[in-house]
Amino acid sequence: MNTRAIMREFGIRPSKRLGQHFLVDEAPLNKMLEAARLQESDEVLEIGPGLGVLTLELCRRAKKVVAVEKDPNLIPVLEKLTKSYKNICLLREDVLKLDMDQLRREYFEGEFKVVANLPYYITSPVIMKIINNRHLIKMAVIMVQKEVAQRLAAAPGSKDYGILSIAAQLYAGVDLICHVGRSAFLPPPKVDSAVVRLVLKDGPVVPLKDERLFFRVVEAAFGERRKTVRNSLISRLGLSPGDVEEALGRAGIDGTRRAETLTIQEFAALAREISKNLE
Ligand code: SAM
Repeated sequence: MNTRAIMREFGIRPSKRLGQHFLVDEAPLNKMLEAARLQESDEVLEIGPGLGVLTLELCRRAKKVVAVEKDPNLIPVLEKLTKSYKNICLLREDVLKLDMDQLRREYFEGEFKVVANLPYYITSPVIMKIINNRHLIKMAVIMVQKEVAQRLAAAPGSKDYGILSIAAQLYAGVDLICHVGRSAFLPPPKVDSAVVRLVLKDGPVVPLKDERLFFRVVEAAFGERRKTVRNSLISRLGLSPGDVEEALGRAGIDGTRRAETLTIQEFAALAREISKNLE
């Protein structure tokens, strides 16, 4: 990979503020491309193309690539590197400010895939943006901090299981594709990374009567990590101990368990029962 040569040629100094850690190792790049299962008909949004190593491979494989880069200094570099491709649109934008519905209308014909080596300072808002735009996005293959990848993919009972795991797994199949060491980047970041794939679903994995209440219950339950579900719900939801006991009983959940042991299905049952006490 010619990341170093491109940096020298264009006099690029990576910006810390923009989370610029450019890939210099081909193995994780190939893993990302493989995980994205690209077909000639695919349309792809790349967030943070940087020096274009992933962008060029996406252009070779997909029907259309829209690459959104915040750093104006990188746009001329990317224009030059991708000039032989007609299927790329480079946008100098902040991904967090993008209206995804508008992007879809203006640049894509149908649902698209997201492939990105994310700048780590915006990992969480980007993941939430992907999940909230699941009606437009069929799959996301993203490089994130290892800890975030573990939280996204965590199963109940593991120490990494929490609100992020539930938010992701409610609407997506999550696969941890591979771990990536810091030496795969220039400059190397302070943390290790991992590639994760989210395959977005149209609806939640379990029917929800009231999504806002579901997340209120999840947040309340995880609000006080060392407490039992029963005590966390009492202190955070403003319900009486009796109402909480009743709802737990009807949902078939032992109130002395801790939040990190409850499955999404159990949280959904609990939210359904709690809604009855709120009526
Ligand atoms: N894709 C390249 C690679 O794999 O070598 C670069 C990845 S680097 C970790 C993250 C990239 O995201 C940088 O090019 C950075 O300038 C860009 N970036 C940072 N904040 C952004 C934002 N808010 N919107 C779009 N791009 C952003």
